[in-house]
Amino acid sequence: MPSPWPDTEPSPAHRAAYAEAQPRSFWLDSLPERPPHEPLTATADADLCIVGGGYTGLWAALHAKSGAPDRDVIVLEATRCGAGASGRNGGFLEASLTHGPANGLSRFPDEMETLERLGLENFDGLRADLERHAIDCDYEATGDLAVALAAHELEELPEELQLLRRFGHDAELLDGQGIRAQLNSPTYLGGIWDRTGSALVHPGRLACGLRAAAADAGVRICELSPVRDLRRRPGHVEVIAEGGVIRADRVLLATSAYPPLLRSVHRYVAPVYDYALMTEPLTDEQQRSIGWQARQGVSDMGNQFHYYRPTRDGRVLWGGYDAVYGYGGDVGPHRDEHDATFARLSQHFFTTFPQLEGVRFSHRWGGAIDTCSRFSVFFGTAHRGRTAYALGYTGLGVGATRFGAAVALDLLDGRHTEATALRMVRRRPVPFPPEPVRSAVIQLTRNRLAAADRHGGRRGIWLRTLDRLGLGFDS
Ligand SMILES: Cc1cc2nc3c(=O)[nH]c(=O)nc-3n(C[C@H](O)[C@H](O)[C@H](O)COP(=O)(O)OP(=O)(O)OC[C@H]3O[C@@H](n4cnc5c(N)ncnc54)[C@H](O)[C@@H]3O)c2cc1C
Repeated sequence: MPSPWPDTEPSPAHRAAYAEAQPRSFWLDSLPERPPHEPLTATADADLCIVGGGYTGLWAALHAKSGAPDRDVIVLEATRCGAGASGRNGGFLEASLTHGPANGLSRFPDEMETLERLGLENFDGLRADLERHAIDCDYEATGDLAVALAAHELEELPEELQLLRRFGHDAELLDGQGIRAQLNSPTYLGGIWDRTGSALVHPGRLACGLRAAAADAGVRICELSPVRDLRRRPGHVEVIAEGGVIRADRVLLATSAYPPLLRSVHRYVAPVYDYALMTEPLTDEQQRSIGWQARQGVSDMGNQFHYYRPTRDGRVLWGGYDAVYGYGGDVGPHRDEHDATFARLSQHFFTTFPQLEGVRFSHRWGGAIDTCSRFSVFFGTAHRGRTAYALGYTGLGVGATRFGAAVALDLLDGRHTEATALRMVRRRPVPFPPEPVRSAVIQLTRNRLAAADRHGGRRGIWLRTLDRLGLGFDS
């Protein structure tokens, strides 16, 4: 059975369903008013300057302060904390540091046992931090459903299950009836319910809670303070921002998919846009028609996949499938909307849940993903070890950013830990080629991935070559 996505253009009804949607992240829109922290307006000194106020930057700030309360820590954020991917994501909080065990095994076979354990420790530590700092982000440990929509995906399930169980996951195979009893879609052929190391959160509340916790711990936060340049000086690094300069003993770069401030990093990260729709709250009857009592996060198993989940207030977030790269790595608010993708997402939503016909979407938005060729965070240092970065989470950073922040701090402070000894931490990904080849390669890879989904999962010569080279492309 081929994948269920129609070959036809989305209908006027599919387009009408999101036409009135607010063009911004539901998660940020649903937060209470929060006045911005004052921008940087002067030159100052700091022990640690963190550039970027997403999860990576905020976890790093919070942990740097809790480890050393006297340390003078400042966060410089170009816009508002959480306005990047951290305030726009699906809220799937996963223990995996490697974008799942299969990707991890293919890249770090000797380290996977350790990486899985460190991932679970990070997952548990994150939960403990939420409690310690009283961060209420609608945390729900529901587990994940992976759903098979095509015959070849159904055939892959036993192997997938075996892999999860090998790493100690409490995972269950569900046949068509079993999966539809969880969530009722006529497109489902079977699936896996993985109950280990996955939860759902409200991404905006998580970012907002981290921002408040960092400020309470004494971190200076400057919003609306874009950093333009970094310069190595004797005994410190100058962080040159709009409005002022920070003379920092150490600098941590947490700038994700945005233009990196170090030229040497550019070739490792491709900003790829991912888009999402949020429905209005479902009525009780609509809710009953789909089931979803256990409220798991769901993703379907194609190369081009959707991810979806319920919210506390009875909505459904529906995102993914397309991954859109702009020539030269273009990033900015002008890319937050992509009508062709919204239309396709709407069409696929109603293909999955025909019983929800008539539901409207209240929000539509996009966000940039810091894609790297190994699909998992990488690290590095510059300025003779005074600057460190953690980038490249490739769409799975809600949990992994806490690990990334901790490792980057260890690198900056010269601490040798189990994590800093890993090849996963010491090695960088295979770089992407420069433009114009980069765009062409990404476009070709997207086309070939879509073709593989249409042709029973068969990976053609291009994808097999990339697999052999360890070069990948994913959202
Ligand atoms: C649509 C979407 C869905 C996703 N879904 C999931 C999911 O369900 N689960 C999951 O695990 N991951 C998901 N992700 C990925 C996850 O959101 C990211 O991995 C994570 O938020 C990265 O956090 P970060 O702090 O590194 O980056 P960001 O949150 O992007 O933060 C970087 C910050 O740096 C600031 N900045 C950049 N340059 C400068 C500069 N020069 N000066 C000052 N500030 C600067 C930016 O303004 C931004 O606030 C998704 C991402 C997107 C876009």
